[in-house]
Amino acid sequence: METYSNETFDEERALYGSTGLLVDHCRFEGPADGESAMKESRDITVKDSYFDLRYPFWHDTHVVITDSLMTEHCRAALWYSKDVRMERTKAYGIKALRECENIEIRDCDICSPEFGWFNDSVRMKDTTAESEYFMMHSKKLYFENVKMRGKYSFQYIEDSEFVKCTFDTKDAFWHAKNVVVRDSLVKGEYLAWYCENVTFINCTIVGTQPLCYCKGLKLVDCKMIDADLSFEKSEVDATIIGSVLSIKNPKSGEIRLSHADELIMDDPDAKAVILFDEPEERQKCPCCGYYTLLGSEGDTAYEICPVCYWENDISGEYETSYSGANDMTLAEGRANYEKYGACDPRFVKKCRPPKKEEQKHA
Ligand SMILES: [Zn+2]
Repeated sequence: METYSNETFDEERALYGSTGLLVDHCRFEGPADGESAMKESRDITVKDSYFDLRYPFWHDTHVVITDSLMTEHCRAALWYSKDVRMERTKAYGIKALRECENIEIRDCDICSPEFGWFNDSVRMKDTTAESEYFMMHSKKLYFENVKMRGKYSFQYIEDSEFVKCTFDTKDAFWHAKNVVVRDSLVKGEYLAWYCENVTFINCTIVGTQPLCYCKGLKLVDCKMIDADLSFEKSEVDATIIGSVLSIKNPKSGEIRLSHADELIMDDPDAKAVILFDEPEERQKCPCCGYYTLLGSEGDTAYEICPVCYWENDISGEYETSYSGANDMTLAEGRANYEKYGACDPRFVKKCRPPKKEEQKHA
């Protein structure tokens, strides 16, 4: 194996067409500003290295990259490559991964618009990512504990599974096919429109107009927050824990939930069955004092009160202790509710007046 350590390369195709290469503590930067350092290479191991030039890994096979940094100048780092493992690496250039096959990414930090298009088999674990149009048109993704931020994620993906992830996104999973999302938080507007055979299990879904025009959609024990005009023209089977703001003309299937503030069924093709299991118990919101929290005491942890928007954080039981979920003390929340009609003035528009059944214990 050829070894390079503590060297700097800046020429065009510096290590082009290599087979069996160890690159350790090297830097790819300099005035020659050359591209495609390790193009058309195989069996490459890269450790603790720095990439500031464009297209370092194109048409490569068997690449291991650890503890390295690809700067924002390192555009389109990994394209058309196969069997790549990347660990503890920062990928900060635009379009860092495209049209690759059999990729493993662990403990990485990605900040790359248009990351991950047209890939086949990507396993990602314990990684943070910031990207727009993340993973578009890819298939066979398996993600675990991935925190992603950015609009238009996972559009047109197929045959994929996501476990314990947090996605802060918008227009995510549009046209996705055969996808399972488990134990995850998916925050964002217009979730998964036009998807087919997508299942959410034990997830929290946040945002306006989720899950419209879907085929074969399933929700198993999911919570839905700020979800209005949900399920429009969708074929859906859903068990929802708690309530939604509104449901609009779901096409077929069965939706089971405790409560919907509004049920709009004015389309003759809307034939889904909506079943309400009104909970036997309600709990008092510690902030506004109305009985707005649905379920037994244990079930209401982290529910958001629709009247004052206080999140039922356990630490909020004590007036003066700081509630992380609400970013204030309960005493402050109560004072704000008195003054503004919301636990925080920012949430005034999200709050609604208490209903009759919320005035006292059910
Ligand atoms: Zn309240």
